[in-house]
Amino acid sequence: MPTATPNVTLDQEINPWEAQSARFDFAARKLNLDEGLWKLLRTPARELIVHFPVTMDDGRIEIFTGFRVQHNIARGPAKGGIRYSLEVTLDEVRALASWMTWKCAVVNIPFGGAKGGVICDPKSMSQGELERMTRRYTSEISDFIGPEKDVPAPDMNTNEQTMAWIMDTYSMHARHTVTSVVTGKPLNIGGSRGRLEATGRGVMVVCNESLRYLNIPVEGCRVIIQGFGNVGSNTARLMMEHGYKIIGIAEKDGGLQNANGIDIHQLLEYKYRNGTLVGFRGAEQVPSEDLFVSDCDILIPAAMENVITSRNADKIKARIVVEGANGPTTAVADEILADKRIFVVPDILANAGGVTASYFEWVQDRQGYFWKEAIVNEQLESILRDSFEDVVRYAEAHNVNNRIAAYMLAIDRVAFTIRQRGIYA
Ligand code: GLU
Repeated sequence: MPTATPNVTLDQEINPWEAQSARFDFAARKLNLDEGLWKLLRTPARELIVHFPVTMDDGRIEIFTGFRVQHNIARGPAKGGIRYSLEVTLDEVRALASWMTWKCAVVNIPFGGAKGGVICDPKSMSQGELERMTRRYTSEISDFIGPEKDVPAPDMNTNEQTMAWIMDTYSMHARHTVTSVVTGKPLNIGGSRGRLEATGRGVMVVCNESLRYLNIPVEGCRVIIQGFGNVGSNTARLMMEHGYKIIGIAEKDGGLQNANGIDIHQLLEYKYRNGTLVGFRGAEQVPSEDLFVSDCDILIPAAMENVITSRNADKIKARIVVEGANGPTTAVADEILADKRIFVVPDILANAGGVTASYFEWVQDRQGYFWKEAIVNEQLESILRDSFEDVVRYAEAHNVNNRIAAYMLAIDRVAFTIRQRGIYA
């Protein structure tokens, strides 16, 4: 059988752009996508790189580099988060922007895909420095973004406060308040009820659907989660409240394990008070790497890229892998997981709850009418349940795994739109 990964080196394996392209090419080939659309959809449409100054607290001027990549806008305004990290590269932002195009198409919301990032170490910066950096980056990309053009949102190391600064800076330039320029804002300034926990809620919905599909009961189902940031912690809390047993949490500074289930409410309180999970009494401290390969029913990588690779995929004991993060599994590891018959819910479906609630936020801002939380959650759950069904049916019909099915479904939807609109040239 042809594979998505003809002989690659480890460097290629962990390059997110290579990871995206390998799956895209494989799915496009399966779809018999014509060559022109293939070339068009393989390449991001616009890439902006900015180098800009920020005055640091000690009076020094530091130069930062930021990116905003718009992969495709055929189905609507570009949409996607902004991340702050020393690891940000153009290739990574490109891959993440493409994934947003596919993610929005999988859940069938009217957005294209984009992503942004600034190379920085947010943990070593003061609030004032972060605010000045965010405002200057916003002003550098302000011609590029807008409610009808490109709508940023939070991603790794950015949050509601970051979105408030972006909204304010953009609005100062526009000389009126433009809430719908970003999503993931605080509730008081155009945020949506349910947005903060939406990615975690979506992860739970696809876990529920996976269990239903595989005929496994929720009660007592053992879950290990990597990451306890916004996505990981909300996933853990919602799933515990739903009857799952969270037996492991893996974080950068150490892991926690408790075969009887970790009390996530207590853990959240502990982290709030101490800023770390280390020292929590309600579980045993174990190395995070061990948790990845421990026995469980569902493994949820909810932190970063490239955590399931050719180096550890064959040791994974979970029955189901649900990708709360973007790009946690390399294309080489895909094949190892497939050989082990692990049921994978790919990132572009599993973590799409966030952008789906972002879509609701954008709609509410433009309507100036805000929904009750129950409505947001109900609409979110219904979209994710339908999308899960679409993906698994597509996988069955085309005899491919869930990831390739999700890509095929998404590429097909975007290609259909482009054919309908025609090429302006
Ligand atoms: N950063 C999130 C993601 O990767 C959310 C994007 C959005 O809401 O636009 O899906």
